[in-house]
Amino acid sequence: MTPKEVRVRIAPSPTGYLHVGTGRMAIANYLLARHAGGKFLVRVEDTDKERSKAELIEPILEALKWLGLEWDEDILYQSKRIDHYRKFSTQMIESGHAYRCFCSPELLTADREKAKAEKGPMRYNRRCLSLSDDEVKNKLDAGEKFATRIRMPEGATTYNDLVSGDITRQNEEIEDFIIARSDGSATYNLAVVIDDHDMRISHVIRGNDHITNTFKQIHIYKALGWELPIFGHVPLILRPDKKKVSKRLGDKDVSEYRNEGILPDAMFNYLSLLGWSPKTDREIYSPKELIEIFDETHFNAANAVFDEEKLEAFNREHIQLMSDHDIAATLAPMLVEADLTTKYWLETRWEYLRDVVTLLKPRARRLSDFIELSSYFFLAPVEYDEKGRAKQFVPETIPILEGLAERFEGLNEFTLESTEKALADEAEKLEIKKGKLIHPTRLAVSGISQGPGLYDILATLGQETVVERIRKTIEVIKKVTA
Ligand code: GLU
Repeated sequence: MTPKEVRVRIAPSPTGYLHVGTGRMAIANYLLARHAGGKFLVRVEDTDKERSKAELIEPILEALKWLGLEWDEDILYQSKRIDHYRKFSTQMIESGHAYRCFCSPELLTADREKAKAEKGPMRYNRRCLSLSDDEVKNKLDAGEKFATRIRMPEGATTYNDLVSGDITRQNEEIEDFIIARSDGSATYNLAVVIDDHDMRISHVIRGNDHITNTFKQIHIYKALGWELPIFGHVPLILRPDKKKVSKRLGDKDVSEYRNEGILPDAMFNYLSLLGWSPKTDREIYSPKELIEIFDETHFNAANAVFDEEKLEAFNREHIQLMSDHDIAATLAPMLVEADLTTKYWLETRWEYLRDVVTLLKPRARRLSDFIELSSYFFLAPVEYDEKGRAKQFVPETIPILEGLAERFEGLNEFTLESTEKALADEAEKLEIKKGKLIHPTRLAVSGISQGPGLYDILATLGQETVVERIRKTIEVIKKVTA
């Protein structure tokens, strides 16, 4: 027997953004598909007309693409299949697995209130299940509207969850739920089962908030005589305060992290390890490696906490893995956007940009850090950090910087070694420690007191810029100390 082809899907409803939880489910499904050489599909659950607008769907697809989750086959839109769903509720009535319910919304509300008052079960009381064929016929002839309800069998249902093992639920806990509304349109669970069947989905991997739906869906599969997929329910992602991750609580969606300089591979890596484990101590993997080592039995049934600091730490590691050239290419438009430079300037100074990347890379946790840390490589400082000013902007600094500017100006080549030697020679001449020269020089050329090694900065900035900035700083010091 040939094993069944692995076909999985992510089924977002249109919300205008990709929730990190949905992103993580998409990654889990994608890894399962790619590892097995199967198919990863996208279905948009947009039966709600209001929500089928492109602006609510496009950002989700964009974010999936950004994460590298290329899907196979055409996207399936539920809104285009509404007529297709209709016949299945009729089929279920004909096979005796469902029945027509003529109860009006008012009557159902009254039932519920009565049950509440009597502290009885809130389930539908099956009033219409006992209608005789004649009674049904008369109501239909009279043009009465009906919804279609599944007829839940007696007993209990067990299925084997890929994540949590056997899960059992008493059927009576689930009421005879509605599978089609009075206009004949399918409700959520019926549409999902029809779609998963038509798409030949082999594994349904989703959040564990869908377990109740799964039990409902299992009864629909059985009623329609269709084979069940494998179900796996992954615990939801929690915030560090143990609340469910939610935009309403200020949590970010995937594109916000992108805008803040998180790399797609870092996001992919971090989300893949939330609720799934490679069962080794190693944490940093490329998507390709994750595809290779993915194992569907390694899902974790415990809750997973989304920790932004950890994501940042992953990002830092992924930045180190990226080539300087690739970082420079990603950064170039960001630098232009931040008004640090122009496209034109960068076009002829690619190597300079790459050198800047090499210097700043070990310090960057996000791509946006490069922007923040690199401004003095593009613009002369207009301000100097306060602590540095207080310490260095004193009359004694003036001759130190003057002597250095002169030495630097006289150098034939301006390199790491030559600038280091010039500074050491000047320190020796003045009979002071090198530190006395290093700090004001750093402040003069960068405006700040930390950063990469001073000689690296000097060699990268170049002779002309360095001398010019030191001289300008001397003028500033003269002004403030006069
Ligand atoms: N639209 C559902 C969700 O976003 C899909 C659930 C499923 O995967 O079946 O949670």
